[in-house]
Amino acid sequence: SYIMKIITVSYRLPVSIKRQKENVKITQSAGGLATAILSYSEKSKKNLTWVGVADFDKELWDNNKNNYESNFDIEPVYLEKRLNRNFYNIFSNSVLWSLFHYFPSYIEYNHEGFEAYKAANEIVAEKVNSIYEPGDIVWIHDYHFMGLAKIIREKHPDAKIGYFLHIPFPNFEIFRVLPNKVRRYLLEGVLGSNLVGFHTWDNAIHFTECVEKMLGHSHKNFIFSQDTHRTRVGSFPISIDFDKFNNAYDKPEVIKLREEIKHLYEDKKIIFSVDRLDYTKGITNRLNAFENFLINYPQWREKVVFLLVIVPSREEIRKYGERKKMIELNIARINGTLGNYKWSPVVYQYQSVDFDKLIALYTSADAALISPVRDGMNLVAKEYIAARKDLRGALILSVMAGAAKELQESLTINPFDDEQIALKLNYALTMSEEEQERRIERMQRYLKKHDVFRWATDFLNETEEIHSRDTKPV
Ligand code: UDP
Repeated sequence: SYIMKIITVSYRLPVSIKRQKENVKITQSAGGLATAILSYSEKSKKNLTWVGVADFDKELWDNNKNNYESNFDIEPVYLEKRLNRNFYNIFSNSVLWSLFHYFPSYIEYNHEGFEAYKAANEIVAEKVNSIYEPGDIVWIHDYHFMGLAKIIREKHPDAKIGYFLHIPFPNFEIFRVLPNKVRRYLLEGVLGSNLVGFHTWDNAIHFTECVEKMLGHSHKNFIFSQDTHRTRVGSFPISIDFDKFNNAYDKPEVIKLREEIKHLYEDKKIIFSVDRLDYTKGITNRLNAFENFLINYPQWREKVVFLLVIVPSREEIRKYGERKKMIELNIARINGTLGNYKWSPVVYQYQSVDFDKLIALYTSADAALISPVRDGMNLVAKEYIAARKDLRGALILSVMAGAAKELQESLTINPFDDEQIALKLNYALTMSEEEQERRIERMQRYLKKHDVFRWATDFLNETEEIHSRDTKPV
């Protein structure tokens, strides 16, 4: 155990708790973010404590936390049910998520939601403040905790704080839709950090413009100088554990699953997509474009299949339930009018897939069709490329995804342009093996270098660096 620590704050805790008859099993979940921060904490010889909102009972945790073996500490915050609903479902997911993804008409704003958001940020800040010791570095994640840095800094003026936003930050015209007191709260809250990170420079510029126009602060080379500290704004595109996805190609389980899939569709080309259910993912327009493709390129009928995996998400929010119905109607229409008793153009599942199945699907697909109408990064795009150890396949990617800025050898599309998507689908499915190889190889070389470990290291080092420039208050 070391002297200093990293305190990571995110809405979800990287643990899963399962009741198995008599006993309770607590395991560390192996998400990319947790793996990367853990690896940094080991290399930098710092302890790691993770603060997040509990989705389990306090009693269950307290009774079982002792038989949880992990390389880091967990500090659950318990929020009262109604407060959590207003904080998470209403303000975070029905206001910030929709607005930041350029869906202002999907906002379901109410006063109670904002009050709950502030209250939840206070409660979480109190937890962080109670475990914070001088020298610690605090890393706040995502749109749920935009108020946090400022509250922590009030208590600990010389704290080292980094804030990273995992979703887009919208331009001024969209951000100004929020009531004045709300946008002030969000911007001033985030400016409590030493470093503010986004996936792309576009997002970083949107943020600095909002700060300039709404708070009247000016920056110099993306640094805002304030009374207690400087705040640097920058671009830190998140990534994946490249080796994990690349090496999975040769796993015996994956090989077996891949052979099954290839056998099942042996006389067809496979188009694949996987997303959480979300209106930002462009699934309805993707289906429309696929339909257009089958109509305008009839030579592909019965020679192609679209494997569409949707991972259940946020179903309790009205816009998500509605979206699911729209998607399912589209699938039924396509299969009903273009398919026949021998062939279903779209094969659909509304269930998650485990890691091996995901890799088998990635590595069976002749084309991945990723068409979000707005996406902070889109890790699926990076995973598809990394998984293709065979250097085969083609990535069709919306320019609205952050990933399109980095994956320069993808076939880029406008997610609303049916004709263009049909054209690129046809291009992808007839692409020579040499061209597939050349494109994937280049993108893999980039991803191998810019993996999630480098992302975490860059972000935390930069937080330390900008913090070190401030003269410590006496
Ligand atoms: N994924 C998952 N369950 C599945 C299929 C995929 O958790 O059944 C993962 C996928 O591997 C990827 C993530 O979900 O890492 C989706 O990340 P992305 O950035 O593409 O979109 P988000 O859901 O975060 O908006």
